[in-house]
Amino acid sequence: MIRIYRHLKDELGFHEIGFAPVTASNQQSYSISAADMESVIAQFHALAEEWLAFALRGEMHGFSNVSETIGELVQGVNKSHPCGAGLGLLGVGPSGDLAPCHRFVDADSHSLGHISTGIDRDKRTHFLTKGHVGAKYDCQTCWARPLCAGGCHHEAFVRYGDTGHANLHYCDWIRDWTDTCLRIYGAVSVQNPAFLRRFAERRALS
Ligand code: SF4
Repeated sequence: MIRIYRHLKDELGFHEIGFAPVTASNQQSYSISAADMESVIAQFHALAEEWLAFALRGEMHGFSNVSETIGELVQGVNKSHPCGAGLGLLGVGPSGDLAPCHRFVDADSHSLGHISTGIDRDKRTHFLTKGHVGAKYDCQTCWARPLCAGGCHHEAFVRYGDTGHANLHYCDWIRDWTDTCLRIYGAVSVQNPAFLRRFAERRALS
C-alpha cells in the first residue's frame, strides 16, 4: 500500500490519496485475509505517523484517510448515516437505474428509481431509515458512532445481507483508526493549532 501511495504521490503527482480495503464476503478469493489485513493496518499507521510529522511542520501530507477524519473532527461532524449514499448522491447505471451509490449500480436489488421516472421516494426513505445510525442496535453504546455511523451500506449488504446492519466485523479496526486520528488531532491541537484551520472548510473547498 505504501508503495502504491509513493507511486501516486511522488511519481504521478496526485495531491491526495486514500485507500479503502476491498468489499467482499470472506468466501471470495479476492477478499483480504486476516494476515494481509494486518499488513494493511500497519501501513495505515505508518502513513498516519508521517501525516502527523508533516502537520507539525505545517505541511500537508497526502494521505486522505487521515485528512478526511481530521476534517470531520475539526468540523464537529456527528453523522446520521455513514456516507452520502441516498442522501447527497446516487449512482446511475448504464440502464438508467438509480442506486444508492456506485457500488449498488445495476445490482438486482436496491434500485431507488430510474432516470426516466425519477427517484422512488418511498424506497429512498426505506433505505435511509434502515441505514440511520439510530436504527443500529449495536452502535448505540459505541463511542466511535459519530464518525462511523455503522459503516458502509454496501459492505453491510455483502457481509450480512442487510444494508442496515452494523459492520461488526470491522468495529475493532474502526475504533483503532478513530483513536489514532483523535491522537493526531490532539497532538496537532497542542503543538501546531493553526494548521487545523485549513480543515474547517475542507468540504466546501473540495
Ligand atoms: S465501530 Fe462498530 S459499533 Fe461502532 S459505530 Fe461503527 S459499526 Fe457501530
